[in-house]
Amino acid sequence: MTFDLSGHTALVTGSSRGIGSAIALELANAGASVIVHSSKPSAVADDMAAKINALGKLQAVIAADLSKPEEVVSMKRDLPEIDILVLNASIQIRKPWRDITIEEYTTQMNCNFLASLLLIQHCAGYMQERKWGRIVTIGSVQELKPHPDMLVYSSSKCAQAGMARSLASQLAGYGITVNNVAPGVIYTDRNKEAFADEEYAKSVRKSIPLGYYGEKEDLAGIVRLLCSEEGRYITGQDIFVDGGKSL
Ligand code: NAP
Repeated sequence: MTFDLSGHTALVTGSSRGIGSAIALELANAGASVIVHSSKPSAVADDMAAKINALGKLQAVIAADLSKPEEVVSMKRDLPEIDILVLNASIQIRKPWRDITIEEYTTQMNCNFLASLLLIQHCAGYMQERKWGRIVTIGSVQELKPHPDMLVYSSSKCAQAGMARSLASQLAGYGITVNNVAPGVIYTDRNKEAFADEEYAKSVRKSIPLGYYGEKEDLAGIVRLLCSEEGRYITGQDIFVDGGKSL
């Protein structure tokens, strides 16, 4: 099989729904054992786990709120050895920049940056021992085109992409690649309420050169490629999957 991931174990954070769920399913279809993660136990997380279990590829189901460092610490204790780490969960708070509180700053930075760093620190040791590993952070088109009311969110994605670039050089000697994949406008639970307003939806579609939103599955193929042997020579890259929105 091309892009085969048999024999590997993948954690995809925020894989109960949205983009993370499509990535988790794709990695399981490619043969990886997958850990489904959500912020809290839920029926959607259980449904996702059942889909992966039906493929015979469910390694575990884990709930942890990544905006709380103490939950990241206890999550690490429950993790098996992982050689594919996809850091997809994020928090996005929409607010004019002058009104952002310290708590809102901390919540977003904890989930979108600190948790990624802590999970990489935890998982990289095993990858280094194996001399093989794949780390993919999920960024955003907002690294290049920040929404004015999402200052902390867009900055957190820049910080995470910077971390991926730094670690790509530091881990390359161990056969570990580190890349950031940056979605554009992808239709998920996160934005479906905003897109219920047809006028707003029309203006957003107009800002996308391809003229339509992406689907959650649009990210899955590139992540599978990056995690496979065929992707072994790609590292330190920031890959935009955005219908041209970053242009
Ligand atoms: P989504 O549909 O809102 O799903 C978010 C996922 O993250 C869920 O599995 C959720 O778990 C988990 N999550 C949320 N808060 C968490 C927390 N505090 N701790 C742990 N897990 C948490 O999101 P999405 O649209 O698929 O976005 C996925 C990634 O793509 C994010 O990094 C986002 O920034 C990025 N992105 C998305 C778009 C877009 O247009 N959708 C654009 C650019 C970038 P629960 O089910 O427990 O809530």
